[in-house]
Amino acid sequence: MADRIYNPNPELAKKAHCKSMQQYKTMHEKSIEYPEAFWGEIAKEFYWETATSNDKFFSYNFDLNQGDIYIKWMEGATTNLSFNLLDKNVKCGNGEKIAFYWEGNDPDDYSKLTYKKLLQETCMFANVLKSKGVQKGDRVAIYMPMILELPIAMLACTRIGAVHSVVFGGYSSDSLAERIMDCKAKVLITADGVFRGEKLLLLKNICDDALTKVKAHGHEVECCVVVGHLRRLANPHGKITGETKNGVNGTSNGGSSEPNVSWDDDRDCWWHEEMEEAEPSCYPVWVAAEDPLFILYTSGSTGKPKGVLHTTAGYLIYAATTFKYVFDYKPGDVYWCTADIGWITGHTYVVYGPLANGATSVIFEGTPFYPHNDRYWSVIDKYKVNQFYTAPTAIRSLMKFGDELVKKHDLSTLKVLGSVGEPINSEAWLWFYNHVGHGKCSIADTFWQTETGGHVITPLPGATPMKPGSATFPFFGVLPELLDEDGRVIEGEGEGYLVFRRPWPGMMRSLYGNHDRFQTTYFDRFHGFYCTGDGARRDADGYLWVTGRIDDMLNVSGHLMSTAEVESVLTEHSDVAEAAVVSKPHPVKGQCLYCFVTPNEGRIFSKQLSDELKRKVREKIGPFAQPDVIQHAPGLPKTRSGKIMRRILRKIAIGDKNVGDVSTLADEAVVDVLFQLRP
Ligand code: AMP
Repeated sequence: MADRIYNPNPELAKKAHCKSMQQYKTMHEKSIEYPEAFWGEIAKEFYWETATSNDKFFSYNFDLNQGDIYIKWMEGATTNLSFNLLDKNVKCGNGEKIAFYWEGNDPDDYSKLTYKKLLQETCMFANVLKSKGVQKGDRVAIYMPMILELPIAMLACTRIGAVHSVVFGGYSSDSLAERIMDCKAKVLITADGVFRGEKLLLLKNICDDALTKVKAHGHEVECCVVVGHLRRLANPHGKITGETKNGVNGTSNGGSSEPNVSWDDDRDCWWHEEMEEAEPSCYPVWVAAEDPLFILYTSGSTGKPKGVLHTTAGYLIYAATTFKYVFDYKPGDVYWCTADIGWITGHTYVVYGPLANGATSVIFEGTPFYPHNDRYWSVIDKYKVNQFYTAPTAIRSLMKFGDELVKKHDLSTLKVLGSVGEPINSEAWLWFYNHVGHGKCSIADTFWQTETGGHVITPLPGATPMKPGSATFPFFGVLPELLDEDGRVIEGEGEGYLVFRRPWPGMMRSLYGNHDRFQTTYFDRFHGFYCTGDGARRDADGYLWVTGRIDDMLNVSGHLMSTAEVESVLTEHSDVAEAAVVSKPHPVKGQCLYCFVTPNEGRIFSKQLSDELKRKVREKIGPFAQPDVIQHAPGLPKTRSGKIMRRILRKIAIGDKNVGDVSTLADEAVVDVLFQLRP
């Protein structure tokens, strides 16, 4: 029942870090009234080479009327993230503890890495980066599959104060090139390739393509480090020949003769060859609290991706605290987040949050459907997972197979189930709760964004009574408001723009190289508030329900993209005069892309054109962006001032004739034509 309230399991609540709503409220109040004391206490759990001075612990301006926007936490402090995540854990006796279990795409490929070994590999790769001339502040682009070398590469950057920019391995060479150029990366780290299910992706070849484009635009990446991943796989599907060794400890015998891998002797080098020579220790570079930690690109409503910039100290304490409380992580637990590290969820909740808590996690390379549709359940069973964090789109796609596959496996170790990426519909929530969690696990429906760095609205498993589909209440330090069109605060029940009144430690500081865009994108619509771009509703009990994007952004399977970026790919085609893209609800993906395309004079809309356009979007952005529908649109519904009325296109996409007021349209007749042409 969707309207019922689900209380936390009393057994879980008894032992939880936060045991009741009363405790949550007290802690939240303290975090708002005394942020220095609240976060200062947490910061004591970490190592600071130099301390912050108390009067500078927290300062900010959220109001453009008062000048430029800035956010600073723990000014004056210096630290090193890899030191806090690795050396600190090794020093306090966790050296032999497993940091990561690695589960490959093929169930026969698996390995593990202790904290001690992770520290050693990190130091070695930090030395490799230094030998390539990487210094504090330099940007390093990473385009890798979900293998252990990925967190090692990120941590190695933090070891020497370099700034990593991970690009999701499903992006096209164009998207990769655009990101490398924007952050002017000095080095690129990748792998020869990866299997996703049965499909082979030759990542290095995509990198070569991207690097050629980057060079043509006047920027040169000096070095490309390549992990020889394919050759060490156990069952390389008969397509790749090589050794049968697993994981990071396998000494792959990759070489420039590897099949299908293109190579530039002056620029490219193999990871394992560089590591052979590398020293196993590397003194950490102490960086300032507000020094950049990473750049992660997210879609922008104008089409050009935004380089979201996160800094060091605040991000560390926020990632650590949200991980501990939202997943109620305890020493000895095994935690698994299925997100790819190429997204923010993977940054904060596969790498930084778990390691900051000395946690043991699973890193999974594959898909939920390979070799069978019960892969997730078999991985939970294999590693005895206690906290499982995934996306509504995955839950919906697994629900289709019924609960028989779930029942085949022992999931009794589960305590907390997490959801992220998009609003979770109550049907999926209830299936997750009843069939995966057997009615005894708490569900953490975590609302957050690349920009927020960590969870901002979320239940706490031992404290918050849950309502299916509601992300419930703000995390510590977070002050949400709902605003109406005119920027007035909505008190009590109501629906409006979801905004935040002040910063928490883990929020973004800027857009890389473009502070003006940062200010106009997030702070110009409502002065004094950070604007999320999402809408939300507050019910009579004060619960928050995020309703989805209210700007020109689309959320397909939890991947955010802008209508503008897809439209610009479509209109690049020589036969296309104009295009308008809207979202259409989709039973598994949440939303899918529905594109209206107007051909140029004298050109004919055909199945061939439609297929070409779909292919072009896949190539230019990535396979996840492929439109579901391309519809012929001899004309688009526009206002007299020429603005496309997407509200009407969304109605046409779902076949709803109730289009509302069309009196402002320049030509009302196009609406009927578009209904007739629906495929
Ligand atoms: P990204 O920055 O790519 O992680 O996407 C952030 C966007 O995903 C948010 O602005 C929301 O639109 C959506 N989102 C993420 N988590 C949730 C959630 N739990 N409930 C509703 N929407 C969500």
